This record gives sequence, structure tokens and C-alpha cells, in this order.
Amino acid sequence: MRWLQSTLNLIYGRHLPVDGIMSPEVRYSVRRFQRSRHLIENGIVGPRTQRALEDAARRIARPELPERFVGPLFGSTSAPIEDRTHLSPKSYRVRTRPLSKVDAVVLHQMAFRRGNDPSKYDNVKAHYTVLPDGKIYLLHPHTAHVSTSNGFNGRSVGVEFAGNFPDTKGVCWSPKTNGCHLVTPEQIKAGRALLRHLQKTLGISHVLAHRQSSGTRQNDPGPDLWFHVAEWGKRTLGLSDGGPGYWIRNTVGPDGNAIPDAWRTWGQPGQPGARSGLGGGVGSTIANAGQKALDTLRAGKEHLALRLAIAGGQRDEGDLTNLLFFSRHPERRGRRLQRREPGFARLAAEWKSIRANLVRPALSATR
Ligand SMILES: [Zn+2]
Repeated sequence: MRWLQSTLNLIYGRHLPVDGIMSPEVRYSVRRFQRSRHLIENGIVGPRTQRALEDAARRIARPELPERFVGPLFGSTSAPIEDRTHLSPKSYRVRTRPLSKVDAVVLHQMAFRRGNDPSKYDNVKAHYTVLPDGKIYLLHPHTAHVSTSNGFNGRSVGVEFAGNFPDTKGVCWSPKTNGCHLVTPEQIKAGRALLRHLQKTLGISHVLAHRQSSGTRQNDPGPDLWFHVAEWGKRTLGLSDGGPGYWIRNTVGPDGNAIPDAWRTWGQPGQPGARSGLGGGVGSTIANAGQKALDTLRAGKEHLALRLAIAGGQRDEGDLTNLLFFSRHPERRGRRLQRREPGFARLAAEWKSIRANLVRPALSATR
């Protein structure tokens, strides 16, 4: 249905809402189309009408063919793309560019998050946004030059992921105002689907980071997205990130920086960014953030573990203190402190010190 609406929009240059509802407007456009093709004029999209619509859409040789980004086109309903090019600021489209020049996707993090309502992100300056629920929105046609990625603008499609994501030390930029978030599994899946889709439809050969073109964007998009989306794209789709040490000059600010080694290995098993459940099964959740936090603890990185647990939604100071305390004392197997047990005073003091010196500062840094 959404496919139908955006196809009609494309064919007739209309702005029917792409909401999946068979309105009289939509019905009228279908009849009009059927009449023009000498099909039975009944307003119903049967196989013949559908084929004719597909044909017509294909013949309008525009890069933003709606069938390319509307609906569950990636073999999974987890990464549909919706067209919002009619709602985004046209002033962001600096000029039209030939698609033959476009060979790369540049990954970005927005450094903020406003929920899953796409209208809250229409002003983001990028071709695509990927929201926490994994929905992908096209804001500008691929043929538009949009100033998203500094020196990469001419050759790339810019993709902004909603969220303020931590760096390799678990530190988020300005967390008090912008929060501190984990990349959601849905965003990872969507990012991968989008790379696959753009490789297929645009022939992109590169996946790049904003960091590589701007010295003020050192953690853009951050290790988590880089590993789980870009490194995946390199491994699975054969994309290139320009090679180790690749970065470019910046005419309007500090030069870019190469991808750090830590980003390349961030999510490997046993590393801080390791995640389970991304193997392709639909519906994995962030529940494994807890496991991830524990793994990190074992490496002795308590600060990072705390930030990850908090970003994963744990905010109870007692629970967070226990997380660290019991990881320091695995022999307790989670057994609570008893007043009469030997060493109670020392252990209780340690527990309180974890709460005062680690948990509370970490909580207040991400409020
Ligand atoms: Zn960026």
C-alpha cells in the first residue's frame, strides 16, 4: 500500500501521504493510471495494474525510485525505508550531482536522540536518518549534494544515526544535555541493510566515517556503529574504508583522522563492544547490554561497564553498585552482605565506596 502511494506520487508528481491507507485520493489516482494504460478501470491494484505501475516507475529513471526505499524491501520488515524528501528543507540541497560520482556511504551519529517520531528529525542534514527503532528515512534524493560530511560530500550518501554514542572510553559528548545512549540492535540491522541496499542500487564501494573528514568529529560515528555496521560491510559486502591510515584534509576546520584500531576490533568476541544476537535473527534486544557490561567488568574496566549499563537503561544505584561489587567478589556468587559475617565492616565500606566514587558520579554524568 505504501509502495502504491509513493509510486503514484512518483508517476504523477503528487504528494499523497505515504500512510498505507486506501483513501479516495489514492483510488482516484489508481483509476487514472488504469485509464491511461487501457486497463480495467476499477481502482483495484491487481497483478496487471501492479506490473504496469512497476514498469512506469522504472521508466521514470530517477535515482529515488520509491520501490527502492519504501516497504519491506530488504527481505525483512526490520529495515523499511520511508520517503520524507517532500518534508525536509530543500535549502539543504546545495546542488544536483551526477550519481556516477557517488561511491561511498558516510556514517554519522547525531549526538542526540528524540524518540522514534520521524518528524523530529526532518531537519537533520543528511540523506538518511536511522532512528532507534531501526526505521530508515530518506530526507534528500541521492542526486542532491548535501553538506553532511565535509570533504566527502561530493562522493557520498550521508547517514545519521539517532543517539549520543560513547567513545572507546565510554564517554559521551555533553551527556548532561544530550544523554548517553547505546546503538540499538535495530539500528545496527538497519545500517547493514542500508549498506547492502545502496551497494545494490547505487553501486557504492566505500563505507566511511565522518571522523575521516573532520577533526572536530573524532567520535563520529563512534566505535559501536563502526564495528557493527562498517566493519560488517567490509567483511560481508567487500566495501572499503579507504584502508588503514586513510583520512582527508578539511578546508573549513581541523583535518580528518584515520579509523582507530580499537574501532576495528571493538565488537569482536571478548572485546568491550561484543554483542550477541545480531546474527540475522529478527527481534534481538538490548538485553545483552547486561552481559556486555559483565564482560567488560572482567577486563577490569569498571568505568566503561558502568556507562554501558547506564546507557542500557540501568539507573538503580544499588543495582549498579552490586554489579561492580559482585564482579570484584565472584566468590560470593551474588550473596548479600550479612552483619555477622567476618570482614563485614571492610566489605560494607568497599560497597559504599563503589557507590560514592564510581556509581553516583557515573549516574550524575548521564542524567
Ligand atoms: Zn557527522
